[in-house]
Amino acid sequence: MKRILLLGGVTEALAIARTLGPQHIYSLAGVGRVPTDLTCQVRVGGFGGADGLAQFIHDQSIGLLLDATHPYAAQISQNAATAAQLTGIPCWALRRPAWQPQTGDDWREVSDWAELIEALEPFRRPLFTLGREPLQHLHEIPPEQFWTLRALDVYPGNQRCEVIGARGPFLINDERELFERKQIDVLISKNSGSTATEPKLEVARERGVPVLVLKRPVLVGVDREFGSVGDLVIALSASDLS
Ligand code: NAP
Repeated sequence: MKRILLLGGVTEALAIARTLGPQHIYSLAGVGRVPTDLTCQVRVGGFGGADGLAQFIHDQSIGLLLDATHPYAAQISQNAATAAQLTGIPCWALRRPAWQPQTGDDWREVSDWAELIEALEPFRRPLFTLGREPLQHLHEIPPEQFWTLRALDVYPGNQRCEVIGARGPFLINDERELFERKQIDVLISKNSGSTATEPKLEVARERGVPVLVLKRPVLVGVDREFGSVGDLVIALSASDLS
């Protein structure tokens, strides 16, 4: 029986973890909630790069690495692929499909913060849903803009920025109310592909609000890639892992 090391980072990872027995390990970076009701083992915190992860795989006799981290968490995905190669074990990954623009959408892709700031110039009341990165730029907000910034936790804002701490899933009516209350004229988002955060895109569409989409990083290829938890779990049960 192969021992699995599951690298978590998205909601779906928890669903996979719930299918794993006590010999397997679910690993979290430590930025989100740590579940306490799982049958499998749970560990929290970094490994110390690809070499540290390879050492952990060796020490724990791991036979399969499952990468279910966020599509923008490129470092850990790279580390996973490298560590699997170093230790000679397979690496499988859950690669959540990206959202696709629909009729009526005005999406503008940006590659980095500099491009984002340039694209933001014509707007006055942006809603940032990128996580914590904009917090480093609060002192750069132009006088004509007021930012609304949504992150997992509340952080101090300033006179030109309100920070909202909230965790998905987000409901469409709450998103409608937020866009209306804050008079949002542009949405800034990663393309996470998550159903939990998708309603904001629907509201942007309804209101004709443009969306500045931060490009997805190109992730390293691994032995097998799955677009859904269901496909991955089927492949696990069809393999000789348990
Ligand atoms: P990252 O840049 O790819 O990874 C940074 C470091 O965090 C990794 O090198 C690793 O440390 C540690 N790490 C990441 N995932 C881990 C895991 N499952 N178990 C143990 N260590 C882990 O990732 P990030 O963008 O900072 O995101 C951190 C975590 O939050 C990831 O698990 C990611 O899936 C999740 N997340 C990210 C986003 C996002 O937008 N980036 C959104 C939602 C959730 P060592 O090198 O020391 O091993």
